[in-house]
Amino acid sequence: MLNLVLFGPPGAGKGTQSQKLIEKYGLIHLSTGDLLRSEIAQGTDLGLEAKKLMDEGILVPDAVVIGMISHKLDANRDAKGFIFDGFPRTVAQAEALDSLLASKNAPISGMIALEVDDDELERRLLERGKESGRPDDANPEVIRKRIKEYNDKTAPVAGFYKAQNKFKSINGIGSIDEIFNAIGDVISTY
Ligand code: AMP
Repeated sequence: MLNLVLFGPPGAGKGTQSQKLIEKYGLIHLSTGDLLRSEIAQGTDLGLEAKKLMDEGILVPDAVVIGMISHKLDANRDAKGFIFDGFPRTVAQAEALDSLLASKNAPISGMIALEVDDDELERRLLERGKESGRPDDANPEVIRKRIKEYNDKTAPVAGFYKAQNKFKSINGIGSIDEIFNAIGDVISTY
């Protein structure tokens, strides 16, 4: 199985690259942000609770996203592999993911981080907000909060995978195809 964690701050291009990767490698895309937005769209209790935090740019509780991922792994038992996008976002989530995958004998192949500086992220997110309709993309204050949450709680997740020799970072600034090829080069080493 190819189990890839696509890592990077909000606006790094994880969603765009995931779409291309699922086509090329036949993987299942698991984006906790997308799963949460689908809960919101369906008006579930979980969605209502998550929306308050998401609109402020704050991470939702670990147990919520771990539960969603566990459910999706169970629902896709025959998958060739998964791309985890926007998950894990805390070390506790990374530990939980390792145990979920250990029970399936299908460990993480590697984490690939897309490196983009904060100014470029803010610019991209504001631009995306014009079309995405995402409330958390439209407001500069919320964007800065999301980047701060990333630096405080999510950046340490890289260390978790470095300790397992599973971390590679690539330049996330360039054309979509250039970045896609760089990701492919890393995947070819697994
Ligand atoms: P994203 O679409 O990945 O940018 O996520 C949008 C928002 O959903 C984030 O700002 C968080 O509030 C929430 N979220 C998504 N994934 C996670 C996660 N793995 N852990 C905690 N909160 C998350």
